[in-house]
Amino acid sequence: MTSNVLTDRFDRVHNYLRISLTDRCNLRCTYCMPALGMQFTRPEHLLTTPEILRLGKLFVGLGVDKIRLTGGEPTLHKDLPDIVSGLSSLDGLDHLTLTTNALKLPHMAAELKKRGLTGVTISLDSLKPDRFSQIARRDRIDQALAGIEAAIHAGFSPVKINVVVMANVNEDEILDFLRWGEDKPVDIRFIEYMPFPDTGWDKAGFFPYKEMRQRIESVYELTPMDNEPSAVGKGFTVKNSPMQVSFVTSMSESFCGNCNRLRITADGNIKACLFDDKEKTLRDVMRDGGSDDDLVQVIGRALQGKPYEHEPMDDLLKKDNRRMVAIGG
Ligand code: SAM
Ligand code: SF4
Repeated sequence: MTSNVLTDRFDRVHNYLRISLTDRCNLRCTYCMPALGMQFTRPEHLLTTPEILRLGKLFVGLGVDKIRLTGGEPTLHKDLPDIVSGLSSLDGLDHLTLTTNALKLPHMAAELKKRGLTGVTISLDSLKPDRFSQIARRDRIDQALAGIEAAIHAGFSPVKINVVVMANVNEDEILDFLRWGEDKPVDIRFIEYMPFPDTGWDKAGFFPYKEMRQRIESVYELTPMDNEPSAVGKGFTVKNSPMQVSFVTSMSESFCGNCNRLRITADGNIKACLFDDKEKTLRDVMRDGGSDDDLVQVIGRALQGKPYEHEPMDDLLKKDNRRMVAIGG
C-alpha cells in the first residue's frame, strides 16, 4: 500500500527507509569520522529496540517496502538479530538489507540470513593491508575479508562491496578490485567521495565517475543493466564474470530527481535528504506519548520540506550537516 504521506512536493514516492542503529563504530574511516574522534550519542538518547520496531511497522504500513539497517556500525547493536526478525516479519516489506564493515559477519552472517535479512552491503576501500589500516585507522583487513567470505557463504547474492574512491589514496586499486571480484558473486560499487564536515574532505581527493569507468573499460567490457529509475548505483554486468560493477555518482551526476529514500538517525530524527540539515524528531513524539497519527503528521511535514536536490559539491560543507557515521549511509 502506498500513501500520500510518503509522496513529496515533487511527486516522488518514498518506499525506501534507512534506519541507523547506532553512531558507534569499530573502525574510524578517515572520510566518515573526524581525526580527533567524536562525541557519540548517549545511550538513553538512542532509539530503543521497541521504538525501532514501532517505526519500522509504521513506515511499512505507509508504503515502505525496503529497509536498510545501517550506522555507525549496525552489527554493534546487541539486538540486531531480533531487530532483523521483527522487521522481516512485517507484511509488505520485500527487502531488508544491512550495510556493514563486515568485521562481525564471520559470526553473524548465517544467523542474520536465517532471520530474514535479504541483502548485505560491505564497505572495503582497499585490498592492501597497510592502506586499509590507514583509511580505516584500524588494522582489520583480515576480519573484513573473512566477513565478505562469510556473507557469500551464507548465500547473499550478490554481496555488494562499497568502495569510496579517493584520488591519490586508493584510485589506483580500481582494476585490482575487478580482478579480485572476477570470480565472485559480488557487485562492486565504486562511490564518489562526498563532503561531510570535519572529515578532511578536499576537492583534490575527488575522483569522478567518468574516470572510474574509463579506467575499467580500458580492460573490461561493461554492459549497462536495466536499472530502476530510483537506483542509487548505475549497474553494469561484466563480460565472462558473475561480478557486477556499479557507480554511485552522487556528486558528478546526482540522482535526486528520482530519490525514493528517507533516513532515520540513531537518535530518532527523520532526515528526508542526506545533505539537508533539517531534521525532525520522531523519538520525542514517541516518548511524549504520541500516537501513530502524531508520528504520521511529523513524517508528512518532513517529506513536504524535502528539497528537490542537494546543493553542488562545493557548497555542501557550508551546511550544518552531520557526518556520515551519525547519519546512516
Ligand atoms: N559502518 C557501515 C559501513 O561502513 O558499511 C555502515 C555505515 S557507513 C556510514 C555507510 C556507507 O557510507 C559506507 O559504505 C561508507 O563507505 C559510506 N561513506 C561514509 N562517508 C562517506 C563519504 N564521505 N563519501 C562517500 N561515502 C561515504
Ligand atoms: Fe565506521 Fe562505516 Fe564510518 Fe567506516 S564508514 S567509520 S566502518 S561507520
